[in-house]
Amino acid sequence: MSTHHGGSLAGQTTELLQALIRNRCVNDGSPDSGHEIRTVRTLQSFFEGSGVEGVVVEPHPERASLIVRIEGTDPTAPSLALVGHTDVVPVEPAGWEHDPFAADVTDGVLWGRGAIDMLNLTASYAVVTRAIAQGTAGPGSFRPRGDLIFAAVADEENGSSLGVDWLTRNRLDLIDADYVLTESGGAPAGSAPGISVMIGEKGAAGRTLRVTGTPGHGSAPWGAHNAAVIAAEAVRRISLFRAPTVITPQWRRYVEALELDQRTQADLVDADRFYDGLPGVGALAGFAHASAHTTISPNMVHAGEKSNVIPGEASVVLDIRILPDVSAADVEGYLREALGDLMENISIEGDQLGESTVSPTDTPLFDVLRGAVKRAYPDGDLLPMMGVGGTDGRFYRRRGVPAYGFGVLSERWNYGMFRQLFHGHNERIDLESIDLTVTALDYVVREFLGRQP
Ligand SMILES: [Zn+2]
Repeated sequence: MSTHHGGSLAGQTTELLQALIRNRCVNDGSPDSGHEIRTVRTLQSFFEGSGVEGVVVEPHPERASLIVRIEGTDPTAPSLALVGHTDVVPVEPAGWEHDPFAADVTDGVLWGRGAIDMLNLTASYAVVTRAIAQGTAGPGSFRPRGDLIFAAVADEENGSSLGVDWLTRNRLDLIDADYVLTESGGAPAGSAPGISVMIGEKGAAGRTLRVTGTPGHGSAPWGAHNAAVIAAEAVRRISLFRAPTVITPQWRRYVEALELDQRTQADLVDADRFYDGLPGVGALAGFAHASAHTTISPNMVHAGEKSNVIPGEASVVLDIRILPDVSAADVEGYLREALGDLMENISIEGDQLGESTVSPTDTPLFDVLRGAVKRAYPDGDLLPMMGVGGTDGRFYRRRGVPAYGFGVLSERWNYGMFRQLFHGHNERIDLESIDLTVTALDYVVREFLGRQP
């Protein structure tokens, strides 16, 4: 496989992916981080001379997105958008075996922050889009019937308010499409592999607990009403709380694909025995649990200003991810049940609720995705899954646009490893997977946009 010299689609993707990783578009959640303008500039020069220019939006200084559109020949044919984020999450360099922003290739593996989430896909989308624009790759020239949109978007790692959320509210004309591909699919499961395709994702309903105690002198803590102590107990109770177990159809199908021992498999699709089955899936336990439950994770805890003052106030920020059909009242009910008598000292702040989203699978695009998987894995098939995190797909699904998280990874992957590397140390991708994914995407775009109605 040619990898370094730009000729093949895989070679171009590898080279572009390295550039995107080296741009260090690290989104730490603050508006002045990210600097996605760097990758917009890289992509602008990547597309130079290909006949497409693209539009840049910049809702906040340096938080830029680039949107490229190749017009189809038939305005009634369905359009397809490839939506790739350009930002990455921060790293803890001490945990890495390679410089996270050097994008080294060692033994057929490319290392770096964003290698799998999701600069590999963003680079693939760009390469496929440029190849279509140039009309040179593949046998013969090709003009799509429907529009092809490539959106390289900012701020996905912090809720997309400077990315797809902003674009949806302000420039929907740029990013709208009839169908969407985005992260995060492609991991094989089982022997005739099921290749994960994300057809939906859980919703989010974050809340903050405001804890009230009584301030006092830190030299005499006996009997004090310390807000930090109350917050600690609240965190403990929330960590022990069990929301109802719900077996979704996607979860049932995924468990079957894992080829577990019979007992574990039976437990994991039985709401009454679910927790008995969890140890049987090893590193996937967290994902398994989150697939069948609304989860509440206390992720930020603050109390106290000074070492000799007993704090009178504390706050606990909760990351709450909801299953389908969970309401704001359900969330409130879970918290009250978990906290019990602590509620005397706690108020719950926030009422936002982003519902979970799911796309149908009986669509023409889904059939083309299946065809792409069969080309890579003749015995394989698509394995529809619900993501437990969030992606930009939700902004489309909420408007009724089918959005799938799609890719094709090599046999060296499994879903546990895939999940572990998302936001983890030593994020990396093998060059074979880069090749499989860009080859599949090139096929999908040509097949879907070229087909006769
Ligand atoms: Zn991502």
